[in-house]
Amino acid sequence: MADNNGILAIDQGTTSSRAIVFDLEGHIVATAQEEFSQHYPHSGWVEHEPQDLIDTTLDTSRRALKAAKAAGVHACSIGITNQRETTIVWDRQTGEPVHNAIVWQDRRTAERCAALKAAGHESMVAERTGLLLDPYFAATKIAWILDNVRGARERARKGELAFGTVDTWLLWRLTGGRSHATDATNASRTLLFNIHRQAWDDELLGLFDIPAAILPEVLDSADDFGTTDPELLGSALPIEGIAGDQHAAVVGQCCFRPGMIKSTYGTGCFALMNTGETAVPSQNRMLTTTAYRINGKPTFALEGAIFIAGAAIQWLRDELGIIAHASQSEGLANDAEAEGLYMVPAFTGLGAPWWDPNARGAIFGLTRNTGVAEFVHAALDSVCLQTGDLLEAMADDSQTKQATLRVDGGMVANNWLLQRLADLTGLDVERPRVIETTALGAAYLAGLQHGLYQSLESLESQWSLDERFKPAISHSSREHIVEGWHDAVRRTLTTGR
Ligand code: ADP
Repeated sequence: MADNNGILAIDQGTTSSRAIVFDLEGHIVATAQEEFSQHYPHSGWVEHEPQDLIDTTLDTSRRALKAAKAAGVHACSIGITNQRETTIVWDRQTGEPVHNAIVWQDRRTAERCAALKAAGHESMVAERTGLLLDPYFAATKIAWILDNVRGARERARKGELAFGTVDTWLLWRLTGGRSHATDATNASRTLLFNIHRQAWDDELLGLFDIPAAILPEVLDSADDFGTTDPELLGSALPIEGIAGDQHAAVVGQCCFRPGMIKSTYGTGCFALMNTGETAVPSQNRMLTTTAYRINGKPTFALEGAIFIAGAAIQWLRDELGIIAHASQSEGLANDAEAEGLYMVPAFTGLGAPWWDPNARGAIFGLTRNTGVAEFVHAALDSVCLQTGDLLEAMADDSQTKQATLRVDGGMVANNWLLQRLADLTGLDVERPRVIETTALGAAYLAGLQHGLYQSLESLESQWSLDERFKPAISHSSREHIVEGWHDAVRRTLTTGR
């Protein structure tokens, strides 16, 4: 029997690398996953060994390709999706990193960002990049490496060093050092890329003191990125799709039209709303980002994050010990009588649209009847109500009518949560059959470039609904609950709103 075509998606994440082979209809054929070590050299610092990222990527890819082959599917193209903003600088000649990867969570450049902010640079940076001056993004991490590795800035100026986010590092190594490129979504997370012109910005490079010679070429998200060294994966395979993880999920969820939102519920939550051809600036300190770029044409998104989503359930389980498994939360919430009870999970401050890093968690409305079920109910409610706040801020920024909310991530196994999310946001909430949307998005981008698909839009019909949750409470009930929530949030703020 002749093999069927498939696509290998490499999903290089913060704690593990995964490889998934999809068939052309977007079904999972084979999958492999491997964790790697996290390094914490100082408080607030997080590093990865670049070699670990390669080793686990190659190992999982080989395993997935082999298992797919045994199932009669031959991968003919590769897509890469990756943890965003994590920064690597290496020697172009030897391919050796000059320092460990500085991970997105790393806060070592907080002072540098604060100084740039104090000097009044944030509005120019935000206007060009859609981002904020925060250590999270790559620019100050690159500058830190150039400042702290002896001779690095001089060598960078001479063109001897290369910078890459994780996609670029993997691409370089997979192609045997032949390809130094990234895609527009990853470039959009560096603070060096002008999202309106879709090009590296000389003034920003000057501001952060980063030589242009270090930068990769920026290609579309579906493009010819290079071909793998045949010795690595058994044959030479073209790499034809790249996107940062949240951006790939937009593609995997087929959120191709303005107003469509994908929201991923794991430890935290990331929501991206498609805003079409318009890069919408935010009045609410949301991020503006390139959702994906096809045929030279960028599609933009507004992005917002919730720090504590599934983490609230972990807290009930691990710190309070009142549930044994996250999955118990569904049944408990269903049985709760939690009218007027609110948990504000500001364990690490409050993000968009409140932005109060000093706020701390609180629970309001306790009565003699409040028990375990009610705590669980309030924790799940907080996830829905925080999502509602994000969506409201995005609607306010974009003046775009929001369509459906497509969800994925570990929490969406919880049907009660998704019904409540529909009730409290007033939007239809849709859970797809394939919830590996990040990897699927990378596979779709590669398949598009390989000519396996006509257009992104042609993939819409492949998106397959598992279940749709429709709002089932009245507008006035929703308003009443949301008002109570805002009252609770206000009582936790330290900024006196
Ligand atoms: P991450 O990628 O951030 O590690 P996952 O997407 O694997 O996260 O999701 C895990 C999170 O989802 C955990 O915080 C866990 O508490 C939560 N979770 C898992 N299953 C459920 C469930 N059935 N109901 C509510 N929360 C859940």
